[in-house]
Amino acid sequence: MSRNDSRPFIVAGGGIAGLATALALGRAGFPVHVLERAFEFGEVGAGIQVGPNFLRALDALGLRERVLRDAWRPTALEMRCALRGVTLCRFEAGLRLERHFGQPYLVTHRADLHAAFLEAVRALPNVTLETSARVVEVEQDAEAAAVRLADGRRVEGRAVVGCDGLWSTVRRYVLDDGEPVRAGHIAYRAVLRREEVPEDLWRPEVVLWAGPRTHLVHYPLRRGELYNLVAVFHSRHYEEGWNLEGDPQLLWEHFRGQRPEVLRLLERIETWRFWVLCDREPARDWSKGRVVLVGDAAHPMLQYLAQGAAMATEDAVRLAREVLATPDDLPAAFERYWKARYLRTARVQIQARFFGEIYHAHGAKGDLRDALVGAATTEGFYANTAWLYAGDDTCWG
Ligand SMILES: Cc1cc2nc3c(=O)[nH]c(=O)nc-3n(C[C@H](O)[C@H](O)[C@H](O)COP(=O)(O)OP(=O)(O)OC[C@H]3O[C@@H](n4cnc5c(N)ncnc54)[C@H](O)[C@@H]3O)c2cc1C
Repeated sequence: MSRNDSRPFIVAGGGIAGLATALALGRAGFPVHVLERAFEFGEVGAGIQVGPNFLRALDALGLRERVLRDAWRPTALEMRCALRGVTLCRFEAGLRLERHFGQPYLVTHRADLHAAFLEAVRALPNVTLETSARVVEVEQDAEAAAVRLADGRRVEGRAVVGCDGLWSTVRRYVLDDGEPVRAGHIAYRAVLRREEVPEDLWRPEVVLWAGPRTHLVHYPLRRGELYNLVAVFHSRHYEEGWNLEGDPQLLWEHFRGQRPEVLRLLERIETWRFWVLCDREPARDWSKGRVVLVGDAAHPMLQYLAQGAAMATEDAVRLAREVLATPDDLPAAFERYWKARYLRTARVQIQARFFGEIYHAHGAKGDLRDALVGAATTEGFYANTAWLYAGDDTCWG
């Protein structure tokens, strides 16, 4: 088998990980077929933070300028106390950060990001996309790998890449390690038009209001035309899905007693969508022969470091690089790929859980948080995040 092999890589899932993988492999000259279970490609409407490392991975895929076009550049990352209203810490995220890390910090609409990927993938003649195609089974032999779809069809290729997210079917085949772990946190999210946000509450920064077992994050989107709000609180409630309609009453119960700035923003919103947050313990062995995992399927994480899509895109860049190195030995390429990636993604998974605890701390823990972050400087923040924001040089080195 060689690069001239006409059999495609079968990519299960057309989210950020699936499209990034299709783009990375497609640009490297390999045929790719993407199978997405939804009836159309798309992302739910909400914001996403694009740290400097994410931009480096996007740059490697030729998407940097396209993503910059619709994004917003926050001036700072700020944490405030949702009970006292004081600023707990504030780190510069504008030009100073860009000079430090060589890439800016952006926030953008998930739909804009997904559309940028989709446009680029559609422009590649060697990538084909199929919707309403739910993968239900995976199989392989020494020469090929294949998936079975819910409609009974069998689709065969040279390998299968599982980009099917948190509840991955391909992961079950590769790792068979049970269900995701429920964090006991729910994220309500909404996007407002700029004119719906009271003038005195609109801020150009990414602001996080840390409260007892809650937090609210807000920032502008789409060149400043939209405003993103994500409100998180502790709850045992569980439903699977990314786009469920939330009960505002539940939100009010959890945010009661918080600062008027927080409550006034929350009350602007009529309809909330929600996610029940889950992750997994870090794992190794993301590949089994010709089948491999990318993105949330490999390393689902809580969003408290805002890195899930970034890690998925870095994965895709690294995977394509390994495949290019040994196109005739995909099992070896896949193994080198996950070995190069899993410690970095494990670190993000673990640190994201820890950050969730920091955001939601109260009582003595909250006092400790306030004292520690109160002493933090922008320089210290850059130093502490260098391992993450400087990017993964092994991806493009
Ligand atoms: C509230 C919240 C905020 C976040 N904020 C950020 C942020 O600021 N920055 C950041 O980098 N990340 C962020 N993330 C994480 C990021 O959204 C995810 O890590 C990223 O979207 C994962 O992409 P994915 O393609 O691996 O999975 P998904 O986005 O879940 O995509 C999986 C795709 O596979 C399809 N699929 C599933 N099963 C099958 C099947 N059996 N057959 C075929 N197709 C299938 C699905 O329909 C879907 O299209 C956030 C997450 C949450 C919950």
